[in-house]
Amino acid sequence: MAHHFDHSRVFHRQLQQRPPEAASGQGMYLFDTEGRAYLDASGGAAVSCLGHNHPDVIAAMHRQIDRLAYAHTSFFTTDVAEELADVLIASAPQGMSHVYFVSGGSEAVEAALKMARQYAVEIGQPQRRHFIARRQSYHGNTLGALAVGGNAWRRAQFEPLLIDVTHVSPCYEYRDRSADETPEQYGQRLLAELAATIETLGGDKVLAFVAETIGGATAGVLTPVPGYFRGVRELCDRHGILLILDEVMCGMGRSGTLHACEQEGVVPDLLTVAKGLGGGYQPIGAVLVQERVVDAMRRGSGLFQHGHTYLGHAVACAAALAVQRVIARDGLLERVRARGERLGARLRELLGAHPHVGDIRGRGLFWGIELVQERSTRQWFDPALRLHARLKAAAMAEGLLIYPMGGTVDGRCGDHVLLAPPFIASEAELDALLVRLDRALSRTLADTGLTS
Ligand code: PLP
Repeated sequence: MAHHFDHSRVFHRQLQQRPPEAASGQGMYLFDTEGRAYLDASGGAAVSCLGHNHPDVIAAMHRQIDRLAYAHTSFFTTDVAEELADVLIASAPQGMSHVYFVSGGSEAVEAALKMARQYAVEIGQPQRRHFIARRQSYHGNTLGALAVGGNAWRRAQFEPLLIDVTHVSPCYEYRDRSADETPEQYGQRLLAELAATIETLGGDKVLAFVAETIGGATAGVLTPVPGYFRGVRELCDRHGILLILDEVMCGMGRSGTLHACEQEGVVPDLLTVAKGLGGGYQPIGAVLVQERVVDAMRRGSGLFQHGHTYLGHAVACAAALAVQRVIARDGLLERVRARGERLGARLRELLGAHPHVGDIRGRGLFWGIELVQERSTRQWFDPALRLHARLKAAAMAEGLLIYPMGGTVDGRCGDHVLLAPPFIASEAELDALLVRLDRALSRTLADTGLTS
């Protein structure tokens, strides 16, 4: 039954607009209570990697609920949590030995920040207190995650509450690489900036460098230039600084490998994952942790001084275990690579010469399209137009779910569209996505008095 918005007691994200009511989902589609079908090309915010209502995941959740829904982790462990940790460690970057289960991405980032601090204390370096992160990044909305995040708009009004974090430049080739630089030289320039920042703070005072391996929600899929993360790893090692890679959005297969850092040839100390871990079937996130970090706590205080009521929730672990098993069983990472390559090529065919498309970038089934008013100057649209919001609405009217966002350039200016279709997408469904996207973009520009 559809409820009238005026009577809604839900504190919705938008307080002046009524979102449609989702009724059901099946594969690549969500259906609302009016019977409208939406092709899900972003899995919400890059969450639904197996699409909706996957029978194997639903069955695994039913089996778990019928047995045990919840047991507090200060009393018990469960077979599903143990199995999921085994599966994740078997496929984790080298040296990772344990998994800390939480309920989402922000919680994973919070836990990683506190782990970094406690690790420093445990190894007798309590003077380490600074985090370095990057502008334009997104690490979540809880206070610690917001503090390391570099999105100016999201931070602004909460600034007085945020811990002090030093932000360096993002790896944003389209806007920041100068014409006379190779991608590698640009990467070296960024590393020099990071090195100088470490120097200023004092290498022995820094806890960790925090970065999304591929910048996601707030910057529109910023892929790193070659050598950048290797250089970051070297700098961290030189100063005993931990490297926290946040793969809440780009990880768990989204980029074509299980972890995006595999393609960079680097191994982080702490790796945060969420979204695709449970594919939206349950709220779950995790921190994958290097053995030496766990060891320091085991030999030291014997515990990580943290915790939440729903850590390692049994139904969430059962759902995530089922999601990861389906991905492995059905060879979906290969499919992400193949379909992703084709999607990227098609996007470039369709929009590569579009007068208002400045950049198309991505990996796997994770693509960003940056919109510009003027291609030659890369001038962005007037933020007052809220082009991203108009495009989202136009796409929904076309029966398409995409994830556009504003503030791409500096937290206020710039618009991009993020595409993150489920790994199960067929070529025909991805083609349908492109047709609808093209129509929505044309309609949005026409309604704004612009033409394509
Ligand atoms: N980190 C990254 C890279 C993200 O993209 C997000 C969410 O978009 C988060 C953290 C926060 O995750 P959650 O919204 O599950 O708290």
